[in-house]
Amino acid sequence: ESSMAESRYIWLDGQLVEYEKATVHFLNTALHYGLGVFEGIRCYSTSRGPAIFRLKEHMERLVNSAKILGFRSLPFTADQLGEACKEVVRANGFQACYIRPLIFHESEKRDLNLDSGVARVGIAAWAWGAYLGEDSEEKGVRMNVSSYTRHHPNVMMTKAKVTGNYANSVLAKTESVRLGFDEAVMLDPQGYVAECTGENLFIVRKGVIYTPGTWAVLEGITRDSLIVLARDLGYPVVETQISRDHLYIADEMFVCGTAAEVVPVTEIDFRIIGDGKAGPVTRALARAFREVVRGEHPRSAEWLSYVNG
Ligand code: PMP
Repeated sequence: ESSMAESRYIWLDGQLVEYEKATVHFLNTALHYGLGVFEGIRCYSTSRGPAIFRLKEHMERLVNSAKILGFRSLPFTADQLGEACKEVVRANGFQACYIRPLIFHESEKRDLNLDSGVARVGIAAWAWGAYLGEDSEEKGVRMNVSSYTRHHPNVMMTKAKVTGNYANSVLAKTESVRLGFDEAVMLDPQGYVAECTGENLFIVRKGVIYTPGTWAVLEGITRDSLIVLARDLGYPVVETQISRDHLYIADEMFVCGTAAEVVPVTEIDFRIIGDGKAGPVTRALARAFREVVRGEHPRSAEWLSYVNG
């Protein structure tokens, strides 16, 4: 099965490099100071071959993340990087995979000034199953509200996927998993619900879908897609402040992200949500999302980039 093939090539600074040779020096500044911006993208198997989900939007967010961090120039355009993503999928012979572009800083000076270095770029791909567990879409997951707070947007820019920002996600995720939960919900500095460590969050109450606005969270591309699909299906979607106890009394709760896809949350802080199973709205959205990525939905045409032309 080619979708399970090992990753053999990584694209580095414009060229395909053998996996073992795609290395970076110990004194690299991105490694020391968290000066990188990255993306997570999925490529899906369809009847027309491998297709990358919302490639253009992911490349735009990558370039925007670099801008937010402060890179003034990049060695490649968003379009060139999009083509490189396709090249990585083709070179490795994947039908389905996860794609990880990373723009990272490198400086001989090793000071804390972004302008003393340059931006380098790599793109890897690997086979990756459901991030929150193989049966997470059916059975749902258990979460807690983290003791760690999500970044204030004036401390770490929450609209950028900066590598250093993810120390915050790692603190929360590790704590939650050590406590026996699958994932953490993080509150913003004001105490309202923000997002999970690698997913955006939604609740459903009396037929209305609610999600935190993007003022302090990542502008998730899966989040955006689900809002469009929900409105297509006739569900009202409201972006608003959500409190912790809103989660406790929700009829349904689900999270979404490129790696996790669409996952029902069945328990939060030891409170069962709804009847403890994936609810009807969650299931309808998960089904629509599944159809889109398989190339079997009216939205597929605008959202899929076929790797082989
Ligand atoms: N929030 C955070 C903190 C994330 O890391 C991710 C994963 N990129 C998301 C939300 C979901 O974003 P997307 O749907 O674009 O993957």
